[in-house]
Amino acid sequence: MAIPKAMRVLGGATFLVFLFVLVTLYRSDPTAIKLPTGGIKEGILPGPRPQGWDHDPQLDPSGEAPEPLRRVNGNNYAPDNANSDRINATLLSLVRNEELADMLQSMHDLERTWNHKFNYPWTFFNDVPFTDDFKQKTTAATNAKTSYHTIPKAHWDIPSWINKDLYAASKKALADKGVQYSEMDSYHQMCRWNSGVFYQHDALKDVQYYWRVEPKVHFFCGVDYDVFRWMQDHNKTYGFTLTLLDSPDSVKSLWPETLKFLADHPEHEAKNNAKGFLTEEKEKGHNHITGGYSTCHFWSNFEIADLSLWRSKAYTQYFEHLDKAGGFFYERWGDAPVHSVAVGLFEDKSKVHWFRDIGYQHIPFFNCPNNGKCSGCEPGRFTDGEDWLNSQDCRNVWFQNAGMD
Ligand code: GDP
Ligand code: MN
Repeated sequence: MAIPKAMRVLGGATFLVFLFVLVTLYRSDPTAIKLPTGGIKEGILPGPRPQGWDHDPQLDPSGEAPEPLRRVNGNNYAPDNANSDRINATLLSLVRNEELADMLQSMHDLERTWNHKFNYPWTFFNDVPFTDDFKQKTTAATNAKTSYHTIPKAHWDIPSWINKDLYAASKKALADKGVQYSEMDSYHQMCRWNSGVFYQHDALKDVQYYWRVEPKVHFFCGVDYDVFRWMQDHNKTYGFTLTLLDSPDSVKSLWPETLKFLADHPEHEAKNNAKGFLTEEKEKGHNHITGGYSTCHFWSNFEIADLSLWRSKAYTQYFEHLDKAGGFFYERWGDAPVHSVAVGLFEDKSKVHWFRDIGYQHIPFFNCPNNGKCSGCEPGRFTDGEDWLNSQDCRNVWFQNAGMD
């Protein structure tokens, strides 16, 4: 039976309209469609995400930290201005002579994004004397003052009370469990120095704030305010960019030792502390190995802090306790978990600040805000390494316990 012409025309037109709608939908910007996941773009967030998140908060547009912000105005931050608006603070690097090229890379990034405006001094530490080449090239990389210091043997050496045989056996046992760097003496020494010794150096005697900078890190975002002054104005004592889980075997007895310390010194626990950040189980089985510590810590290769934190009675006694317990050597306690446990317990959590606006990378993790002042990193990307690294992200535990300020 023949179909009438009018019907054939109508059928053809309907088909064309259908085709047009299909093609339009297919070609439209997929990011314009509101995904139930909060707009996660494919490829940015591979692997498991932290519980309780529908998307990485760094995908959300963000700007500068809240006012008051101290800015460059005329020559108020000029390098040679004896009455500058700089406060008592320094950029601080522990570094080896062999890491000169990597140190220059970090300096170039931080100078370009921030310090060429504010000209805070650089203070370099090393367990052996710096070479002339190191000094010349790092001095040439900034208009600010630079100073170079050799760490006294008494600050760096393995303490006399560490039992050599027990240490040797522990190193081997940890290496068998795959704990990274556990057999490198210098790594243990570095972690101990960064935990509780560095601020005892004469060069820092009169310094209040420091910003720790490692070789081979990247900074991505222009920052147009005096970050140290911001800490002071806003009553902050500790600033971080990333929080991560640690290898539980490296800190097996850190929490039990901490509980012993707290039993003797309950007066040091802050009222408004962040204990939940330290104890909420993030990875199944972790807290069982560590006696209750989540292993979540501020990633201290980036650290902006007030030295009075470490010079306080609470921390002085705590570090002394940990040092005598020996876990910097019998285990591989890092300065990151040690500082984090102390900050989480002894400090009011409102004094801890997430620098979401400081774009940062230390291999293999990023802090990259969605902010027009950044280039060279992808907003919301946490790692460019293997997928499983995403499971080490515990920023959500901090945010849930203390907020995002
Ligand atoms: P990771 O970040 O945990 O992989 O450890 P790194 O190798 O980056 O070391 C942390 C920081 O300590 C870096 O700034 C290193 O340059 C520094 N560092 C580590 N070991 C030594 C050492 O034996 N001597 C000196 N002078 N610096 C060290
Ligand atoms: Mn490093």
